[in-house]
Amino acid sequence: MTDATEQRPGSANAVAAGSAAHTDAAFSGAAVPSRAAAPPGAPDLAASRSGGVYRSGAAAPDTLPSVMRQALFHAPGDVQIVQVPVPTPGPGELLVRVEVALVCGTDVKTYRRGHPVLLAEAPAPFGHEYCGVVAAVGAGAEEFVVGDRVSSANSAPCGHCFFCRREQLSLCENIQPLLNGAYADYLLVPARIVEVNMFRVPHGMEPERAALLEPLACVLKGLEVGDVGPGTTVGVVGLGPIGLMMTYAAARRGARVIAVVRNDGKLAAARAVGAAEVVDLRTAGGDAAAVVRALTEQGKGVDVAVEAVGRPEVWDFAVAMVRRGGVVNFFGGCEQGSVANIDTYRLHYEELCLTAAFHHTPRHVRMAAEVLARVDFPHRTLVTHRYTLDELTSALRAAGRETEVKGFIKAAVIP
Ligand SMILES: [Zn+2]
Ligand SMILES: [Zn+2]
Repeated sequence: MTDATEQRPGSANAVAAGSAAHTDAAFSGAAVPSRAAAPPGAPDLAASRSGGVYRSGAAAPDTLPSVMRQALFHAPGDVQIVQVPVPTPGPGELLVRVEVALVCGTDVKTYRRGHPVLLAEAPAPFGHEYCGVVAAVGAGAEEFVVGDRVSSANSAPCGHCFFCRREQLSLCENIQPLLNGAYADYLLVPARIVEVNMFRVPHGMEPERAALLEPLACVLKGLEVGDVGPGTTVGVVGLGPIGLMMTYAAARRGARVIAVVRNDGKLAAARAVGAAEVVDLRTAGGDAAAVVRALTEQGKGVDVAVEAVGRPEVWDFAVAMVRRGGVVNFFGGCEQGSVANIDTYRLHYEELCLTAAFHHTPRHVRMAAEVLARVDFPHRTLVTHRYTLDELTSALRAAGRETEVKGFIKAAVIP
């Protein structure tokens, strides 16, 4: 949590004050309090929010409507907007009036083929990247008050399971309840998420920027794979919102980024967020990985290769562009049952490090809040199209490339 995000709405110029203070330390986590001070999963953000700075809030249920619109996932390809009762927040929970929900790649996969983990039972509400305003406060969640502008991650680790005790918080076995239901007029945020991974949005920050908190947290965690910094060349293949944020953050950490793209909109976006070189798959010829390698020192290959697509053939491409002794970060999750072929000769005799990064931890969510407050954070390059809640299906189709929308990177759904 940054000073900027601590600001109450209405306080003076929180964004500008925060931005001026932010340095590239935000990308390394150096500016973020260490988890070592608190047990895994402990609400160390909450500790910094205490001290009587904020007036205690009270729910204002009489101002709320009794029904609202909510998107329900019934089956792949079948999402319906229905009227449901506005929920009442239970202990520790918050009810948030959604200002904007962003379409995540996971939502697109869910729309296309369902999701065994995120949505167990259909029909299910979905959508998890959001910014909104607190509309009602459950008992015990009084660190937030009605009217606070907030954003949060979509889960929070339990702090005591096998993996949490080993500081592998992204693998927490008790990740439920997940946040789902941002494609709606109102969203109920589970208590543990409120306690651990919820942020007050700095005054003046656009909702679409604040709503990028969760995917940016995943990206910042992913960038800890390999030693990304000055003197490093990073190859990023797949320049969707995730690949673009990877490019931005790696470049701000001082790395030289080579982006691999296949359309004009993404080519321009990659340059806009800081790619030093852009390789266009349409003109690179048969061996595009060789074109990438040719752009590196002595043609050896990139130091760190990031796969941000989630398809086995692109995993192969990422391995093909890395140098001997380099690191491959398989960031894009493939469909269950996918198998990648690994050249064992290269893996062993060239000492490749093949690894992956998944999800986020509270530390990375805090880092994301810091990075969002930087003046140069390129949210307008990332969020390119807007849809109403009733147009959600169009947004999901555009994000899944079922319908071709020029210049599309990421969709915002505005209820
Ligand atoms: Zn997401
Ligand atoms: Zn856990």
